[in-house]
Amino acid sequence: MADTRIRLLIHGASGRMGRAVLRLAAADARVEIAGAVNRSGNKVDGVRALPSERLSAALPFDVLVDFSQPEAFDAALELCLQRGTALVCGTTGLSNAQRAAMASASASIPLLWAANFSVGVAVMHELVARAAGALPGWECHLVETHHAHKRDAPSGTALSLGESIANARGAPPQYLSLRAGDVVGEHLAQFTGHGERLELIHRATDRDIFARGAIEAAARIAGRGPGLYSLGRVLLG
Ligand code: NAD
Repeated sequence: MADTRIRLLIHGASGRMGRAVLRLAAADARVEIAGAVNRSGNKVDGVRALPSERLSAALPFDVLVDFSQPEAFDAALELCLQRGTALVCGTTGLSNAQRAAMASASASIPLLWAANFSVGVAVMHELVARAAGALPGWECHLVETHHAHKRDAPSGTALSLGESIANARGAPPQYLSLRAGDVVGEHLAQFTGHGERLELIHRATDRDIFARGAIEAAARIAGRGPGLYSLGRVLLG
């Protein structure tokens, strides 16, 4: 019988996220690991990896799953365009030019970028938009806390929650970023009125939620037509 598993190329495989994706994908019968790529080319948890300078030599794959860094993103997108394959990307801190390149690539390939692959945050987008629309005169702050190694600030998740808020009330929130210890990721949207305060908070305590969301997204967009897919539409809709 033909093997119908979706072949994943894991880009950024030696990172905190890449390793979680590798581990969970190995246990998911819908997908198989077609390859792993990292900067050094050193093995990752026993899985052979290709160094990023040899990315173009990757074996055939259906979806590239990218959790790397902005400086590695262009090569990953280019490979997907050359091969006509889907891209699921969770890398944050991308430049406006990289976001624009992604939008134009979506005319040719299926593409899904999400600042946060958790289902809870997908729902939080709807909740903050509702609160912002209902409380137009209130102050709004977005406070995010992440581990000390996180490079970009505010986090991609804070910025995308902020976009949902700005769309609903016409003004972005004020952002505050904390970098501390090993915090996986916390986002607090705080709406402050006179004598009352509304707080919506999401706490991620395990990176596996993001890895699982990305694998689910990959399984669902493989084989679809070109387009820029949203996580909400693919996972919840
Ligand atoms: P990390 O630093 O632990 O790992 C980065 C990986 O990218 C490593 O495998 C490294 O070898 C590779 N890399 C770095 N620079 C490279 C280069 N120039 N060329 C080729 N490869 C390179 O990072 P992490 O914590 O795993 O996070 C990765 C990205 O995912 C970050 O942007 C982070 O903000 C984001 N993230 C997104 C979500 C989400 O749900 N969307 C969740 C967590 C983290």
